Amino acid sequence: AANDSGETTSKKEAFDAEACSLLVRKLKETFASGKTRSYVWRVSQLEALAKIFDDNQPQIVDALRDDLAKPPLETVVYEVAMLRNSCKVALKELKHWMTPEKVKTSMTTFPSSAEIVSEPFGVVLIISAWNYPFLLSLDPVIGAIAAGNAVVLKPSEIAPATSSLLAKLLGDYMDNSSIRVVEGAVDETSTLLQQKWDKIFYTGNGRVGRVVMAAAAKHLTPVVLELGGKCPVVVDSNINLKVAARRIIAGKWGCNNGQACISPDHIITTKEYAPKLVDTLKTELEKFYGKNPLESKDLSRIVNSNHFNRLSKLLDDDKVSGKIVYGGEKDESKLRISPTILLDVPQDSLIMSEEIFGPLLPILTVDKLEESIDVINSGSKPLAAYIFTTNKKLKEQFVRTVSAGGLVVNDTTLHLAVHTLPFGGVGESGVGSYHGKFSFDAFSHKKAVLYRSFIGDASVRYPPYTNTKLRL
Ligand code: NAD
Repeated sequence: AANDSGETTSKKEAFDAEACSLLVRKLKETFASGKTRSYVWRVSQLEALAKIFDDNQPQIVDALRDDLAKPPLETVVYEVAMLRNSCKVALKELKHWMTPEKVKTSMTTFPSSAEIVSEPFGVVLIISAWNYPFLLSLDPVIGAIAAGNAVVLKPSEIAPATSSLLAKLLGDYMDNSSIRVVEGAVDETSTLLQQKWDKIFYTGNGRVGRVVMAAAAKHLTPVVLELGGKCPVVVDSNINLKVAARRIIAGKWGCNNGQACISPDHIITTKEYAPKLVDTLKTELEKFYGKNPLESKDLSRIVNSNHFNRLSKLLDDDKVSGKIVYGGEKDESKLRISPTILLDVPQDSLIMSEEIFGPLLPILTVDKLEESIDVINSGSKPLAAYIFTTNKKLKEQFVRTVSAGGLVVNDTTLHLAVHTLPFGGVGESGVGSYHGKFSFDAFSHKKAVLYRSFIGDASVRYPPYTNTKLRL
């Protein structure tokens, strides 16, 4: 939490409504001073963030090991390197992004000129989730700083080591009159949400997303909601199966052991092709994680016992009994569940009724692959959808008719790493998007500015409204 003197402090100190409004007041004062709007301030803070990554990689790796047993490679590649790149892109493009965009005007306003000026919203709140706790906290912060806002970051209490490291590092490296961390759980977040923010950026599940949006509505505060969903993978039979299997495994178990918002949630393939797909997945899984994956150091653990029990329940459902064709081993004391594949699960089973967010991969089978599109479109719109196929017609149909936050053809999850693509959901998977320039835009108001001079004042808009004017 933050204390009176404006320092970032530990969550053990009381963070009540009074402390919260004081914090927001101070940040509003800083914002009103104009400090965060300057190009120089934005660059200095982006450079300070980049320095955090350069100086502290071992500490970041350790924090994520404590929170999730996250393999160091996944931390370095998917959290630190992604953030470094976001900073690099923002630093390189910032001048260009900040430059007002000249736009055409119409005859109605002739003579005139016009431009779109990007202005910071003001003081923004960023609430992040536990699964990629470093990336999901700081990637939006990069956008908020680039756009010239003052920021409060509330990391997830479910990744406590990362939360306290973020509080320490941002306290040590950043301008604390404009950028602050508040640690805490539901109580602290609820207190924060009572304040009037200029923008709220939330990453997490849709239930809390609704709480955030309702709180924001009280002040008409705009929101970005980065939520989840059930991301499907459609697998055709005319593919390089070994490559497809490896890419599915990398997106599922290689991304925090399935605890990633864009991890494949389930596969849809034909009854005929499913056994071949299962065999190849098994072979490649064994190559990656060995014969005893519960012991593999290359797989994250389940984050806590609540999630372990939730995932266990999905496997205990009568509707999927006898459907496990690979894995299914658990070690509750270590919060480990092995990569698990279930074949031919019914659509009304528990595992198909919620986002899995873990190492379980059900396979749904259909008679004809084209049916998979109807299966996807009959559910909530997912955050991502994937297809492996070389059939041009099917590929085009998939891109045209499947509604999802993002799509990847012949791979999984990699669209996240392309900063020229917007990252965000649609429908129940989210509101708004970010990454690259989209992050800058997410934290900027696009102000319309029309310039007129005193020449050319003949206008039909001045009374008297004569018939001659009406005929014009
Ligand atoms: P979480 O439990 O860490 O919660 C997210 C944040 O909400 C935390 O900071 C937490 O303190 C706060 N919170 C929790 N309950 C609250 C309440 N009642 N009121 C106010 N704040 C509250 O994370 P989670 O929700 O378990 O995250 C997993 C979900 O997030 C999945 O659905 C996943 O798909 C989604 N997700 C989406 C993205 C994305 O970029 N779209 C990224 C990661 C995760």
